[in-house]
Amino acid sequence: MKQWLYKLSVYCMLAIMIFPVTIAQSYPKISAYMPYYALYSESGQNKTTRYIIIRRFKYNSMQAYLYINPYTLRTGILINPEGIVQQDSFQNIIQKCADTPYAQLYQKALQKSKRMFNAGITHVDIHGMILSFDLCPSKHSIDTDFIKQLIALNKIPPLPVTICISRKWMITHPDDLQWLQSLASAHKLDITWANHSFTHFYSRKLPVRKNFMLKEDTSVAREVLKNEICMLEHDIIPSIFFRFPGLISNQKIYEKIMGYGLIPLGSDAWLAKGKKPVTGSIILVHPNGNEKKGTVILLQLARSGAINITNIASLTAAYTNNSQTASVHKKQVKL
Ligand SMILES: [Zn+2]
Repeated sequence: MKQWLYKLSVYCMLAIMIFPVTIAQSYPKISAYMPYYALYSESGQNKTTRYIIIRRFKYNSMQAYLYINPYTLRTGILINPEGIVQQDSFQNIIQKCADTPYAQLYQKALQKSKRMFNAGITHVDIHGMILSFDLCPSKHSIDTDFIKQLIALNKIPPLPVTICISRKWMITHPDDLQWLQSLASAHKLDITWANHSFTHFYSRKLPVRKNFMLKEDTSVAREVLKNEICMLEHDIIPSIFFRFPGLISNQKIYEKIMGYGLIPLGSDAWLAKGKKPVTGSIILVHPNGNEKKGTVILLQLARSGAINITNIASLTAAYTNNSQTASVHKKQVKL
């Protein structure tokens, strides 16, 4: 009997040791991650495709790059690329790509750096609206009912949504994250993933001018790059968009964020703060359980017809509206 119990306990120990390893192996390992700016061109079938590389890293020990398609604004990963990588300064690259939607959006965003609250792109010039969710750190589960109801109201799937994600939410809500990713795989959601900072610092005791990323000793490099690593290690490809925690920034931090090739994303319709969405609005709600009011308002507006869910657009489409290059891109980013 004792021997039987001993064997059972050994098997249990082995299972406990092996199971987490099995889970961890389903995600890629990212290392040697660094900012790296280059133009990448690849020729094939009478056509040369040009991308802007913004990061270099190892993806499961393979040489990899994070790139922006400057025509579609979409991002992707190049692994062991066969084309030509031409390293350059980011400023030179922006000048060389001046005629692309990405460089034009970049120049536009540069003009929006000065406000402490809600700096960045807050409105888009389209007939529809943009929907954004902030997943700030939270003790609550994701509001699945809200997201399911929103999906049910959408007559033309997938529903485009920008999800701004922070590291602490990612590591404390693995099941919720996988649920969101399964909705994307099932073509119910078309997710643009935005960086919402690594630590997402907030203190109730500090004034706004010293809070969020304005806290003394905030390392912008750490907030940007470590969160990108965390995203990639959860099979999330970071987009070109960065949302400041609390929508709070200053010009110095704002320009540093843009120096990493990213576009700060504000909102002219933070619903829980009483803002009313209009045509072209970038709507902000928190389905992380911290701000139920905004999600309730959004569903009310959608049900009353004040917001047409079918007219919600993706941020990248709002600035490019080029479905042909987008579909070409999809084939090329496949790993
Ligand atoms: Zn937040």
